[in-house]
Amino acid sequence: MRRPSPRQGILAALALAVLAVAWLLPEVRGDAERYERARARITALEVAHGRLRELTIGLRHGIGANYDEGNAWLARILAEQTALAAEIDHLPALHAPWQAYREAEASLEQHWEDFKLGNAVVRNSLRYFQSDALAFMRALPATAEGNRLRQQLATVSQQLLMRALGEVGGAVGDGGLTWVMPPPSAAGLSTAARDELTRLARHAELIARSSPALERDLAAILHGDGRARLAALAAANHRLLLAEQQRVERYRVGLLLAIGVLSLALAWLAVRYVDSLRQRERDLRLAGTVFDSSHQGIVVTDRDGNIVRVNQAYCAMTGYAESELLGRNPRILRSGQQDAGFYRALWQRLLVEGRWQGEMHNRRRNGAAFVQWINIDAVDTDAGERLYVGIASDVSELVESRERLSSLAYFDTLTGLPNRFLFHDRLRHGLARARRERGSLALLFLDLDNFKNVNDTLGHAAGDELLVEIARRLRACVREADTVARLGGDEFALLLPDPGGPENTAAVAGEITRALAAPCRVHGYEIVCGASVGITFYPADGVSAEQLLRNADVAMYRAKDRGRGTFQFFTEDMAAAVAETLRIENGLRNALSAGELELHYQPQFAQDGRVTGLEALLRWNSAELGPVAPARFIPVAEKSGLITDLGCFALREACRQCAEWRARLDPALRVAVNLSAAQFRHDGLAERIAEILAAHALPGDALELEITESVVMEDVARGQDVLRRLKRMGCRIAIDDFGTGYSSLAYLRRFPVDVLKIDKTFVDGLGIESDDTAVVEAVIGLARSLRMGVVAEGVETRAQLLRLHTLAGGQGFAAQGYLLARPQTPAEFAAGYAALAASYRALAGADGAADAAGGAVVPGDNGTPGGSIGGGGGMGAGSGSTGGASGRG
Ligand code: C2E
Ligand code: CA
Ligand code: CA
Repeated sequence: MRRPSPRQGILAALALAVLAVAWLLPEVRGDAERYERARARITALEVAHGRLRELTIGLRHGIGANYDEGNAWLARILAEQTALAAEIDHLPALHAPWQAYREAEASLEQHWEDFKLGNAVVRNSLRYFQSDALAFMRALPATAEGNRLRQQLATVSQQLLMRALGEVGGAVGDGGLTWVMPPPSAAGLSTAARDELTRLARHAELIARSSPALERDLAAILHGDGRARLAALAAANHRLLLAEQQRVERYRVGLLLAIGVLSLALAWLAVRYVDSLRQRERDLRLAGTVFDSSHQGIVVTDRDGNIVRVNQAYCAMTGYAESELLGRNPRILRSGQQDAGFYRALWQRLLVEGRWQGEMHNRRRNGAAFVQWINIDAVDTDAGERLYVGIASDVSELVESRERLSSLAYFDTLTGLPNRFLFHDRLRHGLARARRERGSLALLFLDLDNFKNVNDTLGHAAGDELLVEIARRLRACVREADTVARLGGDEFALLLPDPGGPENTAAVAGEITRALAAPCRVHGYEIVCGASVGITFYPADGVSAEQLLRNADVAMYRAKDRGRGTFQFFTEDMAAAVAETLRIENGLRNALSAGELELHYQPQFAQDGRVTGLEALLRWNSAELGPVAPARFIPVAEKSGLITDLGCFALREACRQCAEWRARLDPALRVAVNLSAAQFRHDGLAERIAEILAAHALPGDALELEITESVVMEDVARGQDVLRRLKRMGCRIAIDDFGTGYSSLAYLRRFPVDVLKIDKTFVDGLGIESDDTAVVEAVIGLARSLRMGVVAEGVETRAQLLRLHTLAGGQGFAAQGYLLARPQTPAEFAAGYAALAASYRALAGADGAADAAGGAVVPGDNGTPGGSIGGGGGMGAGSGSTGGASGRG
């Protein structure tokens, strides 16, 4: 329950006061006034009665003769009586004395009228009587009789007058008027005198008779009870008036007290009210200040969602002016990023719980999107109105950096594609779903064919641009639900949930290879990158993420083997290859300790037939798998990391052997050892080599290190550093398989390279393919201008050899190949060493130059296939690649 406000208190107090006054006021006024008025009227009556009496007395005694004044006073008395009666009607306590007075004065008017009449008669008669009597007396003779009569007449006149004046006594009438008419003494009078005397006697008698009635009326007017009763009424009225006045006085004091108390209460309430008003005003001002200066946007809407107030911060956030927002619905900010369901849920929550908070994606006035965090509360005002108050802050930057962070963790920054983590995550989810729904899933593993070269030749910026373009094309090839991820470097992977059969997936893969085969324009160059794609299916090719990825990788390598720019499904035989790889890897782990590894050596010949060096080639005769070709086990060793140990073994063994042969056969002999990428990357390579050379007291130039271009180019700075250190030790550096990579002349010049080994593929085409011939010629020319040596590997026919001689002209080169000598055991080499130079010279003799162009058949000296000089017996079988020569005999 809410406490009543001071204002309500004041209103209640005022209402109470009005009620009290309305109730008390009649009591306070009481009948006092009426008594007061009654008193005035009674006094007026007393005065009027008094005046009437005075006048009556005057009239009676002949002092006055004006009856009109008496009439007026009587009228006044009557009027006052009527007025007083009206007052007394309301004053019951006065009814009795009033009644007594009225009774006493009931016949006043009658008495007055009678008095007037009687008095007039008596007084007139008396006057006439006296003048008549006087005249008569004068006429009386001066006799005794006359004198006596005169005396008698004077006495009667005297008595009558006395009586008229209200004096009692006299001889006239019963009142003592003693005159008998006519008196005997009048006998002597004339008849006229006697008649006159009789008339006088009768006149006197009339006067004497009238006087008593007049006296009664007079007595009634002058001495009636009326006077006393009016006095009694006045006394009663006075007494009651006093009592009433005392009572009213008491009420008045009570009322004053009550008013005093009420006034105090009112004053107290008013003070409180003013206080509360001030507090309210302070609160409002404070709230207003908070509202206006808050850095958070504040928006207030009515129950219909129309904005009724906003603060500056909100305007700044949304870009709208206050006037543009007032009366509008905040939905003008909608960005459309949230669906109707979002707003429905929001209102539902607001209506049920009275509050909602969360992130809202909105649009500013200028259309820019922003994210606000908003707290909305339903608020009911004093006036019973429902408002919604929203406090919002702009969290766009926060959200952006949050998203950037999460995308950093899960997306590739360059291409914006999901990275390895996210891909694995999606793959796991996809698998779980496929398992649940008994569905399938396709995984495409993609490796760019020429990316490395682009990076090496055009630089990283170009490489980045190319990757971005490729990512774009890949995305364009798949559906929305599919995932395209960059796993790292130039490896991409695609995840196709619900692939719908191998044909569909093949279509997608075909589209991808076609899309990537189209040239890209990067840094002004037209580049064709191309990609090889390996495909696996869940559940046919694997049930775990690892299995699927590994098998897709295998399939991708198969695609690369099959000529690049294609795609391959992972099939059963691939699974078998995978199994074999695993067997090889396991076998290799024990190969070294089991002594299953050895080195064979393939001689390299100078133009004059001298053996200048030998390439050391690893041979593995596995107890379990039989002889395994390096082409099979070297890649496995590289992937598994076993190559470091193998390479170390090769270096040690080759150097040991070289030292031995230098001592026994030729002190200038040099051994060439292949270095794999892993070895090259390994820290401490130079130190190890130095240590090995020292262990066999070999000079640096006894060792040639064969490295492929791509290995050196992998990290140019590092490559330069390592090669320079090896160079300082005197070692020779040969670039193996030269011509197959993107031979970057600019870089090549910056490496201390001694020898370029022309790849077998070019040698194969010598004299047959003009392109190949041109390449070989160019490489020889290049080597000449860079002052490098050249080794042609894989020389299998005499024609090739002769052609090499022709191309080289005066420039020196070395040749290596089955034609000249197969890789062989140290023992075989030592045994055949003496004859090698002569055989070479025989092969390269001038007689062979004629059929150089044909080159298909090389008549071997001894008729053995390939006409190999040193390739005796089955010792070449260890290489596992005998087929290379078999058809050429
Ligand atoms: P590579 O360095 O190009 O070695 C030359 C390969 O060509 C050798 O094969 C050799 O037997 C073969 N070859 C030589 N002349 C002819 C010819 O006239 N016709 C044909 N068809 N082949 C010829 P191999 O011994 O099977 O070695 C294959 C690859 O294994 C090597 O290619 C090399 O990359 C790698 N490898 C061999 N031994 C080692 C080693 O000790 N360390 C490293 N890292 N790699 C090695
Ligand atoms: Ca080699
Ligand atoms: Ca080679």
